[in-house]
Amino acid sequence: MDIFAKCQAFQDRVRAAKAQHKYFYFRTIRSAQGPEIIVDGRKMIMLGSNNYLGLTSDPRVKEAAIEAVKKYGVGCAGSRLLNGTLDIHEALEEQIAQFFKKEAAIVFSTGMQANLGCIQALVTPDSIAILDKFDHASIVDGCRLSLGTFKRYPHNNMAALEKILKSEPEKGKLIIVDGLFSMEGDLAKLPEIVSLAYKYGARVMVDDAHGIGVMGGNGRGTAEHFGLEDKVDIIMGTFSKSLATIGGFIASSKEVIDYVKHVGRALLFSASLAPPLVAAASRAIKIIQEEPERRERLWKNAYKWLNGLKSLGFDTGMSTTPIVPVIVGDEEKAFEACCYLEENGVFVSPVVPPAVPPGRCLLRTSVMATHTDSHLERALEVFEKAGKKLGII
Ligand code: PMP
Repeated sequence: MDIFAKCQAFQDRVRAAKAQHKYFYFRTIRSAQGPEIIVDGRKMIMLGSNNYLGLTSDPRVKEAAIEAVKKYGVGCAGSRLLNGTLDIHEALEEQIAQFFKKEAAIVFSTGMQANLGCIQALVTPDSIAILDKFDHASIVDGCRLSLGTFKRYPHNNMAALEKILKSEPEKGKLIIVDGLFSMEGDLAKLPEIVSLAYKYGARVMVDDAHGIGVMGGNGRGTAEHFGLEDKVDIIMGTFSKSLATIGGFIASSKEVIDYVKHVGRALLFSASLAPPLVAAASRAIKIIQEEPERRERLWKNAYKWLNGLKSLGFDTGMSTTPIVPVIVGDEEKAFEACCYLEENGVFVSPVVPPAVPPGRCLLRTSVMATHTDSHLERALEVFEKAGKKLGII
């Protein structure tokens, strides 16, 4: 058998999906990631971006990146362990540790690598990772890379979590959850999770990729939102959403960071984060601290969008945040809805099995601080027409 045979079969599937207008992936955008984007020469309202605070094109963030390029160039040509540690990496780690009220932090080249490196390092053969079923793929992949075991409990089901904790008295236990779930827009039940962790001697790691900059009185994320920053042992985050650029980190105690720094293969065997990205993330964190009005605007938009969809009769699932799923039912409807929205100038992404159970296909929508009332009102009008046309509302 030719090992490439599956590629041919896959290509046939993609071609068929494209021909039937059921393919909404790898769309080419010819503009910055703003509230309006250019696709195929047309302006579209962007409702599928994680640029929650609108910082990807902020002039101060861009300037910081440019200055770093001038001083350090565009790369470090090596791993952090050997020749790739710059003074600005260390300064950023100090800044992250202070921001999240942890002793230390370590920066990776992406959020995915932060999860891979951290989980692989910590979940050794005598340990178990315990995951929410809706956790991000990078957490699952980190567990697959690790030499320990992992178990998953149904989304936010605390009784099921307790059952797993109880069944593993001997092992070192790490509960890993998304703080703000990326598809459903709901929160982990952190108060219950930390108290169960305490009861059974487990540690807690929160992947707050979507919560940072969004949740909490100061944008420090889901742990801040619940007043539990000192009870969450590891905060993981990415720079690829509110923090404008790309890169990832974990923040924790000095000993955990020092350990992951020396044992996390995704850090050791990959080149360090490029200087402009380090500088951009650092400037973005400062802006989050200096400009709470961005977060306020984001939440104003989130309520306008969520309430607008609800009052039109859409099913927005469990969302209470700027990430709003619009549940449409079967796969066919999800693609038809996307197609209608695209033709009418609204960019959203369909989410279909295996990412969601069959029959619960959804359009993942998310708002930004930089959307105006007019963007959201125009998008609501298009959604209303799509919903009526397809019998969703
Ligand atoms: N965790 C979560 C919850 C995410 O949504 C993502 C990105 N979609 C990641 C981790 C990975 O982050 P990055 O894009 O920086 O690799």
